[in-house]
Amino acid sequence: MTGPSKALAWCIGLAVAAAAITLPLYANGYYLALGISILYFTVLATAWAMFSGPTRYVSLATAAFFGIGAYTAAVTGETLSWPLQLLTAAGVGAVVAAITGLSTLRLSGIYFIIFSFGLAELIRQLVIWYEVNIHKSVGRYLFSDITQEMLYWQLCALTALVFLAGFVLTRSRFGLALRAIGADETAARHSGIDATAVKLGVFIVSAVFMSVTGAIMAPRWTYIDPAIAFNPMISFQVVIMALLGGAGALIGPVLGVIPLVLLFEVLTAALPNHFSIVLGLIFIGIVLALPKGVVGLVDQVWRRERSKVTAVKPLSGGGTLLVAETVGKSFGGLRAVDKVSLDVRAGEILGVIGPNGSGKTTLLNMLSGALVPSDGTIRFDGAVINGMAAHRIARLGLARTFQLVRVMPDLTVAENVATAALFRGSRSSAAQESIHELLVMVGLGDMADSPAGDLTYIDQKRLELARALALHPRLVLLDEWLAGLNPTELETGIALIASLRARGITIVMVEHVMDAIRALCDRCVVMSAGVVIARGTPDEVLADPTVITAYLGEPDA
Ligand code: ADP
Ligand code: MG
Repeated sequence: MTGPSKALAWCIGLAVAAAAITLPLYANGYYLALGISILYFTVLATAWAMFSGPTRYVSLATAAFFGIGAYTAAVTGETLSWPLQLLTAAGVGAVVAAITGLSTLRLSGIYFIIFSFGLAELIRQLVIWYEVNIHKSVGRYLFSDITQEMLYWQLCALTALVFLAGFVLTRSRFGLALRAIGADETAARHSGIDATAVKLGVFIVSAVFMSVTGAIMAPRWTYIDPAIAFNPMISFQVVIMALLGGAGALIGPVLGVIPLVLLFEVLTAALPNHFSIVLGLIFIGIVLALPKGVVGLVDQVWRRERSKVTAVKPLSGGGTLLVAETVGKSFGGLRAVDKVSLDVRAGEILGVIGPNGSGKTTLLNMLSGALVPSDGTIRFDGAVINGMAAHRIARLGLARTFQLVRVMPDLTVAENVATAALFRGSRSSAAQESIHELLVMVGLGDMADSPAGDLTYIDQKRLELARALALHPRLVLLDEWLAGLNPTELETGIALIASLRARGITIVMVEHVMDAIRALCDRCVVMSAGVVIARGTPDEVLADPTVITAYLGEPDA
């Protein structure tokens, strides 16, 4: 969030908090009920945005967790004390979130949305089955001595908690990790982020808040059945509210909750039969007019006003590290890489060259953990890494760039680089620069605050390199990093790679630019049709007749 939306957020936050805390002192039953609606939707929408905002996994499971909480309170109402009921609701919500999260967070896009929606229905059906066949009733009566005012205070406390949790989360490394996952999950994994664990953890926290909200709200009904508890409309209302306010900022959802709760209140009174149609129209209107919500609108206006450029100061400035043994990869019938063995010595630059489609990228994908080899062994610094998750390999100090650049477009340039510093291991390495120094090194020193998506293609490539270096890597894999540079840029690029080696970083580079290969590489491996056809110094392999026939055609293609 930028300056003015932060200020706006604080003002609104303080005003709302003041109004909320004093409400029961002067409000009558009707306004208190309205206050309760605003508070419980605030908790639900803020908890929803905590997970769905940064990751963009649009969840329609709110009704499921809310219902779990409400129903748990109804079932345990006669046996447990009130605090224990809330704890039980939180526990059940967490367990269900963990189970469903593990199975669904591998899904993305529309599949996740559909599954999360189906979840509420599935749980509702299970509860109906249980009630009818085991408990022999359709619903349950709730006898509680909790007054409206007590309910209101509990929701106030829960609202404060959800904001506190959101505040801590956005400030922690998990907050940036989540946003990185939302922007580009693959790139995030290769920056050392365990995407599955981070998503699952935050999904559970968000579900716990929803379940506790349901439990707190349960006494509002004297009779509860699965249709009341698992009302799918809640899921949609929460999404609309969060989107209207802006799911990208902590304060965003509240900005949507207040007007929409008031509007829903008017609508249910004025148009009881057309409520869902109007809801749908509002939804479409919000998505079209305010794709990033109220907060996004304020930010956009602010960004137009300013263009900040910060002055920068320039930077002053073995053994075998990696072994691949008979590594192979098949895609169906295609043998993309076949029995490739190579060793990378600490401190050297190893070139991997060969015609298009010869398996170079596939090889790098296996070395970095993007692909699991079909056969063979890969050892990095003595440890077997084939089959190891990408983020763990990254944390060992093996970084990479992508042939088709992958930056996280909505994150700023500095944040992109910061993603790689979030979870890196604490190993010593020659390169220990700060994020700013890294940006200066790759020539992006004055772009730190720009969204990465605004950079030119070439600058995005530089950014990818800075991100790779922020892992404090011992080995960097570069996949055609110099491709597409003009002669001046090429010269700078070559000098930059040479400077990395001077800092003790080992490099494996896939490259078509032969001048760069000659200038930089100590040794080369030549691939063709998935196999290694030659090895040696650049001059040796580029003069080898087999290589010339297989690949070059003309010596300097
Ligand atoms: P290079 O980087 O040397 O140009 P690649 O490693 O990208 O080559 O590709 C090697 C071969 O493997 C090509 O024939 C390509 O079509 C195939 N290939 C690469 N990735 C996949 C994939 N995910 N699924 C199926 N085939 C693939
Ligand atoms: Mg390639």
